[in-house]
Amino acid sequence: MQPMPSKPRLGQNFLEDAQAVQRIAASLGDLTGRTVVEIGPGAGAITGALTARAAHVLAVELDPGLAAHLRNQFPPGPQARVTVIEQDVLRFDFAAASAAAGQRLLVVGNLPYYITSQILLKLAASHAAPHGAILDRAILDRAVLMVQREVADRITAQPGSRDYGLLSVTVQMYGPAETLFTLPPSSFSPPPDVHSSVFRWRFAPRFAELGLQEATFLPFVRKVFAQKRKTLANNLRAARFPPHAVAAALAHASIPTQARAEALPIEELAALWHALHIPTSV
Ligand code: SAM
Repeated sequence: MQPMPSKPRLGQNFLEDAQAVQRIAASLGDLTGRTVVEIGPGAGAITGALTARAAHVLAVELDPGLAAHLRNQFPPGPQARVTVIEQDVLRFDFAAASAAAGQRLLVVGNLPYYITSQILLKLAASHAAPHGAILDRAILDRAVLMVQREVADRITAQPGSRDYGLLSVTVQMYGPAETLFTLPPSSFSPPPDVHSSVFRWRFAPRFAELGLQEATFLPFVRKVFAQKRKTLANNLRAARFPPHAVAAALAHASIPTQARAEALPIEELAALWHALHIPTSV
């Protein structure tokens, strides 16, 4: 039986499928000597499977009742392989955890769906320590995350597909993402209203390789995908790029004038960003 959550509104659908638990843990790859951050460990279903494989699990749980239950299940101590951190994951300091572990972190979680986007953006923002910090290196290695199926479809979508858009480009700018498997509502207690998919995300940001500035490229992508029904050119004009500059940039980047953003791979979006001289105009 599951422990009673203190805050039943925190996206708490507990995974009850033992095979899926093992698949999630196995999908993280070799965990020997590794530190894993688990987002929302809940009653510890995935946590237990991780302890058999990893050196250390940092279990970040917001619900005080569930955190107390986890501390009973995995008592603290010098040899403990699980550290329960009662905290909002959106406030968790991945850089400090990586520095303390002396390695890039692995991340896993059956995410609380009400903050999926914020968690993805938090991970993206945590991918490297800020320039000038004592630690200036990659923080995250790879993540295996469960999200609503439709969200996973959007995250992993490729150009030209119906689901390709802002979320796909934003996530994939930080590294390739692939869907691994899908679970029905009956795999959870209580069952959610939706199917869930597990995807793997390997952190390998592409900004340097494509000569892009993170701070201006992502807002540009948001403008490009502002209205799905409009052409790319119309979205850019709506974002106040002068029509002659839009036409010249499309020609320079060899993009057809009637193209829609959903058709453009990341490399073409990057070419357009360069052609519009965004790096020099900010
Ligand atoms: N990992 C467990 C499982 O698979 O059975 C529970 C998954 S449940 C979908 C999401 C978990 O995230 C819940 O335990 C919930 O309390 C926790 N949670 C919700 N919001 C959170 C937040 N902001 N930070 C950390 N944990 C959170």
